[in-house]
Amino acid sequence: MTEHSNGGRTAIVIGGGLAGMLAVTALLGQVETVTVIERDRYPAGRGFRKGVPQARHLHILLSGGSLALEELLPGTIAALGEAGARSLYLPRDLLTRTSTGWQRRFDERRHRTLSVTRPVLDSVVRERVLRAAAGSATRVEVLEATEATGLTGDASRVTGVRVRSRGGAPGARSERELSAGLVVDASGRGSRTPQWFAELGRSAPQEETVDAGLAYATRMYRPKDPATAPDAGVNVPGRPECPRGAAYVPVEDGKWLLTLSGVRGHHPPTDAAEFTAFSATIGDPYVHELLDRAEPLSPVHGFRDTCNRRRHFERPGALPEGLLVLGDAACTFNPVYGQGMSVAALGALAVRGTLANGGALRPGSTAEAQRAVARAVEPAWLAAVGADRPYASPDDVKAGVGERLSTWYIDRLFARAAIDPVVGAAFRDVFCLTAPPTRLVAPQVFLRTVFLPRRPGLPGPPEAIEAV
Ligand SMILES: Cc1cc2nc3c(=O)[nH]c(=O)nc-3n(C[C@H](O)[C@H](O)[C@H](O)COP(=O)(O)OP(=O)(O)OC[C@H]3O[C@@H](n4cnc5c(N)ncnc54)[C@H](O)[C@@H]3O)c2cc1C
Repeated sequence: MTEHSNGGRTAIVIGGGLAGMLAVTALLGQVETVTVIERDRYPAGRGFRKGVPQARHLHILLSGGSLALEELLPGTIAALGEAGARSLYLPRDLLTRTSTGWQRRFDERRHRTLSVTRPVLDSVVRERVLRAAAGSATRVEVLEATEATGLTGDASRVTGVRVRSRGGAPGARSERELSAGLVVDASGRGSRTPQWFAELGRSAPQEETVDAGLAYATRMYRPKDPATAPDAGVNVPGRPECPRGAAYVPVEDGKWLLTLSGVRGHHPPTDAAEFTAFSATIGDPYVHELLDRAEPLSPVHGFRDTCNRRRHFERPGALPEGLLVLGDAACTFNPVYGQGMSVAALGALAVRGTLANGGALRPGSTAEAQRAVARAVEPAWLAAVGADRPYASPDDVKAGVGERLSTWYIDRLFARAAIDPVVGAAFRDVFCLTAPPTRLVAPQVFLRTVFLPRRPGLPGPPEAIEAV
């Protein structure tokens, strides 16, 4: 059965997660109807759900992502604040231990990142998207408990989606087809579009991977005495000489999340006692000491598939007409750099900008929008794979001369950024996704990075905030 006979003016979004909801926002006013296909049933309130298993883990929304989210959906940052999201200005509110020592605590206030659990973030965004949709010319319907099982069309054009209801009477679970002029795959890191291409007679897009083999383990805490809770989050990333790390940040309702991480051979355990013991092995005692002042509120949750994986749907001929791929379905990152949600928002903004230039359904518009998504992905991708190269597996794409040079430069720049307000500001601009990578080679930054001597960072976590 084929529904939506006016497929030409409808869009289907596969996946009602963050990228899917932001894709809806980008399409408002562009098409008559958007149908969101979501495999899960959304929980009542702000609970976890199976389709977003990473939601148990610490999620920081970088300033670049916050700005993009606010542009797409004005008022969302304030709404997240009302829902309890904590604002962390970098570097003031996130004490960071780099490979050369602790970073100075400049009161720079250029980068306001948000720290909140994913269920809260996702539900606030979803509520606001659906509210924006209600006031727009586009009708949005969400088919919960419905799974996309394939694409319809042929090798040159996608014309819709095959779906199957989950749950309900057995008869209601049979497959049916929904047709649409535009299909957006926002089904996350488990996207099956490459396999679905084979069914349409197309080859899969080229794929690049750089896998540091990192695993996460996360537990929620509450400080025993709020009066003695730390006044800043803490970040101790792994480094080649000690590839184990920790991040401990406040989230809503006075709770804190501790994520421990480690590359191959250093995976953090999910047993509670071993988890606590692991926190003492990250090369700095500070986080472990803070746990004495906190009580655990949850079991430990693990996560292993953290590979940087990019599918090049933007390359010539890689995308059939009528399809667009957004969010983790197009590119996933090692989560330790906190980029995925921001890139989803920047990608949706890029889509909106492209489609507004002449309509979502004109020939070639999806290829153009996909190229814009790729441009939004690029800076985050370069940062993540550059930083992960020392841990990459032999199967990964090899670094070229350009990437090796940039890794050498970035290594010096990291060290300098910890102590130097000029280099630090440029570093944060780029890693928070508010400036292009060229900012890292601006004359002042370049000269200070290359010619000033390498100096260690601070010996311990700084208490003093420094004006700049
Ligand atoms: C451990 C971990 C920590 C992270 N930390 C950060 C961080 O600090 N900051 C940051 O910015 N990013 C972080 N990320 C990345 C972030 O989680 C993702 O980038 C983000 O969730 C991408 O959104 P998405 O909508 O593309 O995918 P998802 O959020 O995964 O949503 C996909 C949706 O599609 C649905 N779906 C899947 N398949 C189908 C189907 N066949 N049919 C219908 N529906 C389907 C799922 O149910 C889900 O609702 C982290 C990731 C991991 C793994």
